[in-house]
Amino acid sequence: MNRINVMKPWMGADEILAVSDVIASGWVAQGPKVAQFEREFAVAMHAQHAIATSNCTTALHLALIVAGVGAGDEVIVPSFSFIATANAPIYVGARPIFIDVDSSTGDVTAEGVAAAITERTRAVIVVDQGGVPVDLDSIQEVCDPLGIVVIEDAACGAGSTYRGRPVGAGAVLAAWSFHPRKLLTTGEGGMLTTSNAQWAERARQLREHAMSMSAADRQASVLAPAEEYLETGFNYRMTDMQAAVGIVQLGRLSEMVRRRREIAARYATAIAGIDGLRPVGDPEWGTSNFQSYWVEVEPGFPTDRDGLLKALAEGDISARRGIMASHRQPAFWAAAADHALLGVTERLTDNTLILPLFHQMTDEEQARVIDVLRAPLTVAGHG
Ligand SMILES: *Cc1c(COP(=O)(O)O)cnc(C)c1O
Repeated sequence: MNRINVMKPWMGADEILAVSDVIASGWVAQGPKVAQFEREFAVAMHAQHAIATSNCTTALHLALIVAGVGAGDEVIVPSFSFIATANAPIYVGARPIFIDVDSSTGDVTAEGVAAAITERTRAVIVVDQGGVPVDLDSIQEVCDPLGIVVIEDAACGAGSTYRGRPVGAGAVLAAWSFHPRKLLTTGEGGMLTTSNAQWAERARQLREHAMSMSAADRQASVLAPAEEYLETGFNYRMTDMQAAVGIVQLGRLSEMVRRRREIAARYATAIAGIDGLRPVGDPEWGTSNFQSYWVEVEPGFPTDRDGLLKALAEGDISARRGIMASHRQPAFWAAAADHALLGVTERLTDNTLILPLFHQMTDEEQARVIDVLRAPLTVAGHG
């Protein structure tokens, strides 16, 4: 019996060829391939401007800087997210304010955001958690009149749609991840998309030491003019080797989403017949890429979440505990989040698991997973 992983990147000969072409070209750092990837990504996501970064965490950092968030400001974030969402406000001296999520989507809601707004609220980071599109319009309706910037953490969201468009398309700032745990991967990598031309320009400079002229442009001229460093910047660049992979991966995205949704539909059908298991699904306003196919183990199920994880592990199936709760991590203990207000987050983080789902997953592999989900029922029935 072979091990079934929770996720596997879908890459092949085309990515290998793309990287070897870049190496043969002699230009491996940020250059023409990054520029091409940015153009193609912007078109695919209906974004006006796209700025490639070293990862999504650095894209979130740049988003907060260009949005003018700084010391003493509050940034509303879900606790129910990978920790980078809550860390980003800390980088600019702001304070993350944790709010709860909806139990069916795992995303924040307009009501939750509205209840947490204070005079110090400068921005909100909403997340398309596990690929489930957040209801962005309703949150912008609350925040826009107050001048609060809504940043979409679309790390998990490439290939998901919101009201008929790619997620992120309606956001003034969106941050994306190309980590192998997401659909489209460049090994490590990220992107910032924005509808604001000035913010795009500043982010483009900030990711490259705030240089007045990019290294690629400087290199292109024989006698380059002296560059200036306009403010304190960062090195958050992507390499052309990564971008070349990203271009190939972007071309595979719709096929990846199609296959993932097919596997998700098969899980949904199987789980519908099992009492006590509640799977994630599409919300009424969009479609998920099912970056993380999570299932809540409810009290009616014969075993608890950890029991089910153990049963899967015994079948050499690598599932994962559900999405984390950032407020429970030592890094945020001092922030003294009010756990009482994060009841859904704590319930989901304690009782959900993420099932294997990857492009190359075979029907037999999925049947093996489903058999384990059904097994505790059989045992209980005989007991
Ligand atoms: C993965 C992830 C990130 C971090 O992405 P990196 O590219 O690894 O920095 C941020 N936010 C969310 C919601 C994520 O899932």
